[in-house]
Parts: sequence; C-alpha cells; structure tokens
Amino acid sequence: MGVIVQKFGGTSVADMERIKNVAQRVIKTYDRGNDVVVILSAMAGVTDGLIELARQASETPDKREMDVLLATGEQTTVALLSMALRSLGYSATSLLGFQVDVLTNKQPMSARIISVGGDRIRDLLTRKHIVVVAGFQGCDSDGNITTLGRGGSDTSAVAVAAAINADACEIYTDVDGIYTADPNICTSARKLSHVSYDEMLEMASLGARVLQIRSVEFAKKYNVPVHVRSSFNEEEGTMVVKENSEMERLVISGVTCDKNQRRITLKKVPDQPGISAKIFSPIADAKILVDMIIQNTRSGGETDLTFTVAKADFDEALSITRQVAGDIGATEVLTAESIAKISVIGVGMKNHSGVAAAMFSALADENINIRLISTSEIRISCMIEEKYAELAVRVLHSAFNLDKETA
Ligand code: ASP
Ligand code: MG
Repeated sequence: MGVIVQKFGGTSVADMERIKNVAQRVIKTYDRGNDVVVILSAMAGVTDGLIELARQASETPDKREMDVLLATGEQTTVALLSMALRSLGYSATSLLGFQVDVLTNKQPMSARIISVGGDRIRDLLTRKHIVVVAGFQGCDSDGNITTLGRGGSDTSAVAVAAAINADACEIYTDVDGIYTADPNICTSARKLSHVSYDEMLEMASLGARVLQIRSVEFAKKYNVPVHVRSSFNEEEGTMVVKENSEMERLVISGVTCDKNQRRITLKKVPDQPGISAKIFSPIADAKILVDMIIQNTRSGGETDLTFTVAKADFDEALSITRQVAGDIGATEVLTAESIAKISVIGVGMKNHSGVAAAMFSALADENINIRLISTSEIRISCMIEEKYAELAVRVLHSAFNLDKETA
C-alpha cells in the first residue's frame, strides 16, 4: 500500500475503449489499497491536430494562445477518465494544471515547472478519491496557462510524484521499457531492468522517445524512482533510479545512435587566446546548442576546429561560422552532412579500463573510420559516416556482450 502516480501516454488513451482499459488498470491499483494519482496525455494525434488547426488560423500563431489551445487535449482525457471511473462506482476527480498549482516559468510552449502544490491532491486522496491530473500543462505567475513542450506529461507525472512524495511513479507507454539499443536496429537488444538517471540522460537519443528528457532531470533532482512500462501488458518494465553499485558491474548498459547532427570544420584557425570564444559566442547568442567540439593540436601557429550541431540548426550555424571565419582569418569552412554519432553508455565505465580501446577496436574490425571522438564520465561517442551507423550499433552491442544470448 502506498501512494502511486500512474501516467498514461497518448496511445494509451487513444480512444474510449483504451480509456476504459486505463480505468481498469487504475482500479486494480486502487483496490489493492493504494492512493492513486493519474496523469494523462492527450489522445494520440490530438496535440498534432491542434497544432495543425493553429496553422490554419494563423501563419504565426500567438504563443500564449497556442498554450491555451494545446492544453485542451489533456482537459478532454482527464474528464473522460474521471467519468468512466465514476460510472464504475469509484470517486474520481479531474484537475487541470492550474488547479493543482503547477507553477511554471513564463516560457510559452516549453515552460519549466517551478513547483507543484500537493495540498489539493492530498486532500482528495484522504477522501479516497482517485485524482486524475492533466499532464503537459501549468500556469505562470501571471495566471497564464502554459504547456511544457512535447512529451511534457512525463515531466508533469514526475513533478506531481515529487510534490506528494509518492512511493512510485509509473509511466505507462506503448513500449515495454528501455532497451540496450534500438530494437529496430539491433534485434538482439534486451530490455534493461534498471538504468541510472545519468545513463538515461546520456541515452537521450534512445530514451527520448520514451521519456521526456526533462522528466529525467526532474526525477534525478528529487530522487523519484520512475518505472517505465507497457500499458498493454502486465510485465515489469525498466526502473530509472539512482545509481547503485550493482549497476557498476555492467560495463556498458546501452549503445545509441544519433543521426541528427551535422559537422562544421574551420581550417587554419589562428591559435590565440580568445579565438574559440569569438567562434562560439555568436552561435550561443543564436541559442544554438553545440554538441561535440574538437580542436587539433597546434601546427605553425594554427589549428583546425571542428564541432557539431543539430540538423535543424545547421544552416544558421554555418552562416554564422562563415562570417566569423572571415573575421578571424580562418582559411576555409568545411562541412559534413552524412554523419552519425554512435555512443556506448554505462556507469560501469567509471571503474573499468579499456572501454574506449574496446570500442575503437570493434569499429576498426569492421573498417569503420572514426572522425571525431568525445567522452563524458559514463559515455564514449564516435562520429562516423552515416551509412555505417546501424552496423556500428550491432557490432558494439555484441562487442560489449549486450546481445540476448550472451547476457
Ligand atoms: N500531449 C502532449 C504531446 O503530444 C504531451 C504528452 O503527450 O506528453 O506532446
Ligand atoms: Mg511521451
């Protein structure tokens, strides 16, 4: 018995039949004596549909009004689930973001949660209500409705769980957990029983389809254990939790592939103090995120400098770089479009040596050339040619003994 937060995504509430299935699942948990708070997304496709309608209303829809519009998707599902629960004889109450004091900053359409007031939820729980809260939405300090960015109801769930100090935060979705690699690329990928917050954050490209990254940051900050599991079966999914010593026994827990980047190289950059700042300040001013940055060693007072940005930011980053290159006297700007970043991730690499060497050897055995390398404490990434991406994932997956048969 405890306080359980259950979040159901869009595919789990896609129509009335599925909403009734959700009701059954919630009731099952409630009947075991738990207090249950449900967080819902909009029905699958509804948020996209609303965005499309907005486009028809205006070429540049006002962002405040976008928030008002997008928040309606979740308002529909919470009301319907509460009705369904009531018709089955259970006390249920739906609440919108502002009604549970989900206070956010003033960034329309990608607001960040500042705090969640748990009082109203707790009060309803004491009166044995099932509380059904609209995900994805909040309210800023001026009383405007805000939304949390795509996939934001995951973050709503974790924030509510933290606010009421829930015993569990279950995220029900259309996949049954987090895998060691994308099962579409690597058929021998396995479901992980546990993954640490930091691994999950590093696995962004694998996990982002399952959990909004911000929800993981939130879970880490407030130490909320998150259980990602399927809404279509009863199996245990993946626990996203604080790192523990058990996890470190595994050297690598996942292999990811990111094809969403482009590379820019500045040739013969003068090797002087302040040059990197001159290059990256205007890029930062344009709010472009830079991922990998590599600077070569000096030769003849000059260096080459390479970095990567997301595909969507490439054109803008390139035009800024060309301009800066002229200003600082770099001779040439080169680009590479068909690249992929392959990463191996695992908290275990903190105390295992030879992980990088093993990764490079496995790629070398397949004659895959490494263009760039970057690392964090728990990740090693190699930039390679895009056409080798799938092969590289499979090769590394088996090189690190992650394949089903060997585990
Ligand atoms: N309905 C929102 C979306 O489609 C939020 C969510 O589903 O998490 O992104
Ligand atoms: Mg989602």
